[in-house]
Amino acid sequence: MFKLPDLKYKYNALEPYIDEVTMKIHHDLHHLAYIDKLNLTLEKYPDLSKKSIEELLSDLNSIPEDIRTTVQNHGGGHFNHSFFWNILTPNSGREPAKQVGISINKSFGSFEKFKEEFATAGLNRFGSGWVWLIKNGNKLLIESTPNQDTPLSDGKHVILGLDVWEHAYYLKFKSKRADYIKAWWNVVDWTKVENNFKTI
Ligand code: MN
Repeated sequence: MFKLPDLKYKYNALEPYIDEVTMKIHHDLHHLAYIDKLNLTLEKYPDLSKKSIEELLSDLNSIPEDIRTTVQNHGGGHFNHSFFWNILTPNSGREPAKQVGISINKSFGSFEKFKEEFATAGLNRFGSGWVWLIKNGNKLLIESTPNQDTPLSDGKHVILGLDVWEHAYYLKFKSKRADYIKAWWNVVDWTKVENNFKTI
């Protein structure tokens, strides 16, 4: 059985950049719904139920075809959101920590250029999806995935990610996804991103 992880900060901690009501609905309703549906789907598959979410998503071909898309969508929703809550903080340094900073400059030219490219990827994702910063050897790449697809299913390791589904920003930003992305940089936990970078 998968469980909803607690946030490591209060629902209102990311104000004014991400509002309290959005955080509450996003975590308590959306994320929980992915978990409930995933648990329900795996009920009749005890062997799969024993696996971690990472194991399930990194080997989708091993999942029976009739539940594969459901696991991909709802398992992806669980994994992506658990990851997302963890790279947010009310105490953002607002600048990448040391090693990620060096790697960002090497891969994109500068932090500003990286942020532009990342935002463009988020704006170009039509409908629902995510934007990711992926560590590939010594290089960093920006990629976007639709729905709740996760780069983990392609064997790729993410160190930073942004939910660009409307439910992540609509209450505060309405249709203005660009403003949401701009605000979001203020709550990125660069210490956590640095740790992700070092441990992959
Ligand atoms: Mn979401």
